[in-house]
Parts: sequence; structure tokens; C-alpha cells
Amino acid sequence: GPAASDRLTAGLNPQQREAVEYRGPALLIVAGAGSGKTRVLTHRIASLIDGREAWPSQILAITFTNKAAAEMRERVEALLGEAAGGMWISTFHSACVRILRREAEAIGLSSTFTIYDSADQRTILKRIIKELDADTLGFTPASAQAKISKLKNELSDVETYARNVNTNDPNEVMFLEIFRQYTRRLRDASALDFDDLISETVYLFRAFPKVAALYQRRFRHILVDEYQDTNHAQYALIRELTRPVEPDVVAELDAHGVLVRGMTDATGRIPGASLTVVGDSDQSIYAFRGADIRNIVEFERDFPGAEVVLLEQNYRSTQNILSAANAVISNNFDRKEKKLWTADGDGEKITGYTGYSAHDEAQFVADEIEALHRAGVAYRDIAVFYRTNAQTRALEEIFVRSALPYRVVGGTKFYERAEIKDAMAYLIAVANPLDELALRRILNTPKRGIGPATETAIASFAEQNDLSFRQGMRAADGLGLGPKVTTAIQGLANLLDAAASMLVPSQKGLDEGTNEGAAKVSDVLAFLLDKSGLVETLRNSRDPQDETRAENVEELLAQTKDFDRENPGAGLVDFLTQVSLVAAADELDDASGTVSLMTLHTAKGLEYHAVFLTGIEEGLLPHQMSASEPGGPAEERRLFYVGITRARKRLYLSLAMSRAQFGEVSVAMPSRYLQEIPDELIDWKQSPGMATSRGGTQPRALNARRGGYGGAGGGGAGAWGTRDRDLERFSVTRSAAPKTEWANRVTGTVRDNGDLTLEAGDRIRHTDFGEGTVRQVTGEGTKRIAHVAFDSAGQKKLLIKIAPIEKL
Ligand code: ATP
Ligand code: MG
Repeated sequence: GPAASDRLTAGLNPQQREAVEYRGPALLIVAGAGSGKTRVLTHRIASLIDGREAWPSQILAITFTNKAAAEMRERVEALLGEAAGGMWISTFHSACVRILRREAEAIGLSSTFTIYDSADQRTILKRIIKELDADTLGFTPASAQAKISKLKNELSDVETYARNVNTNDPNEVMFLEIFRQYTRRLRDASALDFDDLISETVYLFRAFPKVAALYQRRFRHILVDEYQDTNHAQYALIRELTRPVEPDVVAELDAHGVLVRGMTDATGRIPGASLTVVGDSDQSIYAFRGADIRNIVEFERDFPGAEVVLLEQNYRSTQNILSAANAVISNNFDRKEKKLWTADGDGEKITGYTGYSAHDEAQFVADEIEALHRAGVAYRDIAVFYRTNAQTRALEEIFVRSALPYRVVGGTKFYERAEIKDAMAYLIAVANPLDELALRRILNTPKRGIGPATETAIASFAEQNDLSFRQGMRAADGLGLGPKVTTAIQGLANLLDAAASMLVPSQKGLDEGTNEGAAKVSDVLAFLLDKSGLVETLRNSRDPQDETRAENVEELLAQTKDFDRENPGAGLVDFLTQVSLVAAADELDDASGTVSLMTLHTAKGLEYHAVFLTGIEEGLLPHQMSASEPGGPAEERRLFYVGITRARKRLYLSLAMSRAQFGEVSVAMPSRYLQEIPDELIDWKQSPGMATSRGGTQPRALNARRGGYGGAGGGGAGAWGTRDRDLERFSVTRSAAPKTEWANRVTGTVRDNGDLTLEAGDRIRHTDFGEGTVRQVTGEGTKRIAHVAFDSAGQKKLLIKIAPIEKL
């Protein structure tokens, strides 16, 4: 009622209130940092539900991280005073996984598909590049991965690329082949990479208007936070979701018993969902991942009749902090001029510090944190940001020595540890038996005497016979391998089968479509760890590191137990999906009472009482990789702006005059961006032991820059490390499901030559390899194998029962 909605708009300024109360097709909220954009989204959702204008299930809100999603849900529920189940508040990726798991069959994908992370992608690309000798043309897994990702973010698939490829350019031709093979391998493994999650959902909606209509009808209000960082594929997804449902499709839905009555307008269509997007083009920091600022700039053209609300007042930071942010960002061209302001007063000056080494800088940060803490600031309200993960080393060393409680957000990379990936690969292989990557990972982990030659033999045998790797393992006894190896391979296959059978629900569960009667994820993992000997091998190892590895695997087991407890009724696929989608910022734990260390990219959307921006040096910020790229320095400036605007009360800017990296010490120059902040906003403290001839008001390094410090030339910038790989927001990727489905899939599609009798000398034709002569037949019964000399394809071994062959 009105009283309730007053409560929801009380304390908002007039522009914020307008944005909460707007009812129409499209709303764009553009505003600088800390002006309440995210807060407006939250209040808008609560107001829609509270006013009975929408059911929670009709809301789809997109946030940048899972952590932000959880926070938004909590806030909405706090405003409503009750749980609002059924709302979809999630990242683009999570929303798409949910849709794809439900609709996978339509696009010929198993609903238990695996999600590959970037390490998985590189493993596959490495194999492809090797097979194609593509490294001679300069291709690397990383370069191919970047290019594939870029294409997918632009919704360009292999066929599209093939149509436009310049056939005279060997590089383009080779890349096409890499892209094609990569796509095929993911298909065969029933796997998607992160970019696929978005683009495949778009393709699904475009190819199946009826499927799209189910979601277009369902979501009446779509809200997107951090819209400035959406890429083209995400934009296309939003366009698909907000399309009206046309009368003919409405009629079909109606015929299928989908409720449409009362939803159609005078023309008989279901109008498109109402769309609200919020963003700040000054905070666009993901151009390197295809984020397209044009999405925000062109919003009004794309969504005619859109309302635009500008928020100006900042509620987060002091004026000194805002003035610094304004001064920095005003150096970017091509932006709408806006000035952040607050009613809260100037606050304290920014503190600057020039250390003579990274350790000196870190010591300063630690000392200041202790001082803040003594003054009553909680550790959890303090954050330290940096441009690259390598910078954490000095910080951690000093923090440990100072006994400062801290946490590296997104830095632990638990799920990227080899032993965790191994244990996860067992689960994945159970959930998705088509996943060759997972199978090959565990084939000889722990060691069971299966060497690389055997692995290759299984792989090529499977390939030749159009089998999955798993089926290839099943036929191992016909491959002429030694008895010990054969037993080892079959032992592993049996173990995986046994684990899969634990996951089959009871008859009641099957009838009702639930997981009832299926083993818990933790039981399955415990079984796999026990029978495979993975933990035992680590425990018995002489390598002292292995003890830690064993503990990590046991920590994973503990996590599955938590998962089982917190998600009753959820299955293995749910667990694997959750792990896949863990974003760096998701590991934040506000209650933990520790200082947070994170990259500037991870810091987006967050706020802290006190913020330390470290390593404000040329080569780091701007990062040397970006400095020479078009648009690079401007994007790096936005990153600096994002960092500054995270601070509520206290901001510290620090740098080191020399920094050791890869065993080399190089001279660092202060970042060009420091000069953009008016001197009177910063109170510079010099490094202990440094000359103070200028009365301590100017940092030595700044003088040096103006006067030519040290004569090291560009050495400082040139010596910084490689591009920061850890910008990945998602640590691990994987997923899976119960046995029944995949069992059908695996066995149902296989051909059967029945009792085709072959003997040496017979001529056969194979669909891929053409004609050839049988040289020998080994094995028995269904495991009989023909050794064939093909006329042009060389020697192959084929499993007679299922090989695509005919006798001539
Ligand atoms: P960013 O661009 O960094 O994502 P934002 O625009 O999303 O920032 P919010 O995080 O929503 O900003 O708000 C910043 C801070 O200001 C939050 O602590 C929020 O609670 C507070 N805030 C926003 N609007 C108001 C208001 N009208 N009154 C009091 N506090 C407010
Ligand atoms: Mg925000």
C-alpha cells in the first residue's frame, strides 16, 4: 500500500525516487560512483513487489558478481521484511546456465554440460595447436583463446567467421581451423566455455521463439547493474529477453497450457518486459573483454521512449576524495562532464607515500592500518587495492610479519590448485562422461601405470571409431595393451560407473523428477577419493607439499558437506555449477574481521571506510600492456577512478621508487595519473630515510620525474611483468548430472554392426577413412578389433561392433 511504498522511498533524493517510481518500458540511470545506483535498483525491486505490481518470480536482476547478487537479495528481503523466493538475482553467467540447463536439449546439448574455465580452454587449444603445427605461424593457446573469446563476445561463430575469412591469408585460414576444432571438441565433450554461456543462450532464443517466449513472458521486469561493462553478446541477450511475444507465439503458448490470459495488450501480443539499466561510463573497465560503452551511449536509440535519470549527489565519499576523482577522470576525452559532490564536507586530506621499495611501501600500509585500527576502524572496513596480483607478495610478507589479519580476495584460487582440479575432474567425469578433458586428467592421477602412449592410443582409437574417450577406455582390452594397463583402465572406468550409479535417484525420485534417494555429493566424493587412492597417495608421499595438498582435498570434501547441508535436494550438477561460477569477489566475507586485499578490477561496486591504492607507478598503472594500446591509458584512468571512489573517509595513494620483479630490481616512475590530482588534496609523507629538502611537501619521486630520476629511462615501465592473467573473475568452471540421462545419451547413439564377420584380406569402406584392407582381427565377441590398412588414411584399429564401416 502507499504507506509501505513511502517507506521504500523515504530517505531517497528526488531523482532516486523518480527512478524507483518510474513505470514504463525502459529506464536508464546514469550517474557517477557512489550516487546510489545500486541502491535505487534494490528499492525499485522492493517497491514493485511490495505494491503487488510484480511477483518475485517476474523479476530478473543482473549483477556483476555473485556476491553482489547475494547482497542485493538480502537488501530486498530486508526492505520487504520477508523472503522473496523466486526472484532471479544473479550474474549474466548464472542466469544463462540456469536457462541452458533447462533448455539444453533444444540445441542438442546435454543438460549436464561441463563449463570450461580458461585453464581448460588453454589445455584444449594447446593440443589443437600442436596437432596442427600452428605454433609455426605464431599461434599460442593464449592468443587463440583471446581471439575466440573476442569473436564469441561479438556473437560471431565458426560459420560466420568462415564466411568472412580471407583464404589468401594463411594465418586466418589456420585460425579458422583452430576455431573449428575447438568448437567441435567442446561439442563432443558436451562442454561450454564462459563466453558460450551467453552466446548459446542468445542463439537458443533466436532459433526457438517459443522457448524465448517462455522467458519473455515470465520476466516482466529486468534490471541490470553495471551496464557500462556489458559486451555485445550480453546486450543481445537483454534485447532478446525484452522482446514482446507476438500473437502467433502467444497462441501456441496458450495451446500448450501456458498461462497467457490477462497478459496480452490490445494487439494480442505480450508486451516486452520493462528494462532498467544503471551504469557509469567513467567506470567502464572491461573493454579488454569486449565490454562496449556504446551499449549505454546508444540506449535511448535502442529503446525508444526510454526515460533517463541522472543522479548527481554522492553519498559515499568525502569531498576531498570526490575532488580527486573528478580531477583525474576529467582528463578523459569523449565523456559527459559530470562532477561528483557530497553534502558531507571535505573530510581529511588524501595521504600520499613514496616508499623506496615495495617492502617499504607495504610497511607504510601496514603501519597506517594499525593506526586506523587503534583509532577504532574495523579491519573489515579497510581494503588494499593493486593493479596486478604479483604485487601481493610484498604486502603479504609484511602483513604476516606484522600479524595483521588479512585476506586476499580472489587470490587464493583454491579451485585452480592442481589437486583440487584433480578431485573435481573425478566428479566431472562422473557427471558428464563425454568430458574427455576430465577423463584424461584423472587417467593416471594418482599414478596407475597408464602412460602418455596409452592415453594417445585410447584417444586415437576413440577418434577413429567415432567413440567418446570413455567408450574408448571400455574397449581397452582389445587394444593390445599389456594386461596390467588394461586392468588399470578398466578399474577406473568401473569406479566411475559405480560412483554414477550412486547418483541415480530412487524410483520415487525418478517418478517425481527429484533427487530423492540419490547419494549426496559429499558421499560420492568421499567414495571416489577413497577408491581412487587420491588422498592416500598424497598422504604417503615424501614431498612435504603433498601434505598440504591432501589437506586441500579434504577441505574440498568439507565444502561438499556444507553444500549438501545448505542445499537439500540439490545434486552433483548443482554443486559443479556453483563451483564454476564462483567469482573472485564472492570469496569476500564481511564478517571475517580481516583487511581485504584485491585487484582494482575486483573492487568494482564495493566501498570501504579506508582504501589504500598501492603501486601507483608507470608500468603498473597504467599497466605497461595497456599503455601503448589505443584507449588503454583512458581505460586505466577509469580503473584508477574506480579505485579512488571506493573510499568513504580515508584514501591513501602509495608507490615505490624501485620494485623487484622476476628477480630484477627496476626503477619505478610515479604514475602520470598522480600528477592529475591537485597538490592541495594530498598530504605527502615521505619515505623514512629519504631527503626532505623540499620540506616534505613534495615526494622525492615526483621531483625526480620532473627532473629526470635516476636516468633509468623507460626501464621502470619496461620491466613490469606479463599481462595480469588473474583478471579472470571466475575461478573454476565445471558441471554435471545423474547417471540415467547420460547413460542413455552415451549408449543410445552408438551404431551397432551386430555380428559383422571380418577376417584378414577383407576389403571395407569406412565413412571417414575410405577403403582399406583388413590385416588382422584381434579380441573377442563385442570387443573384436579390426586392424585395417586404409588405401590413403594409413593404419587404424577399429572396434568392429560400432565402427562406421561396411564390408565390400
Ligand atoms: P558504484 O558506482 O560505486 O557502484 P552506486 O552508484 O551503485 O556506486 P551505491 O553503492 O548504491 O552507489 O551507494 C553508495 C553509498 O551511498 C551506499 O552506502 C548507499 O547506501 C549510500 N546511499 C545511496 N543513496 C543514499 C541516500 N539517498 N541516502 C543515504 N545514503 C545513500
Ligand atoms: Mg553500484
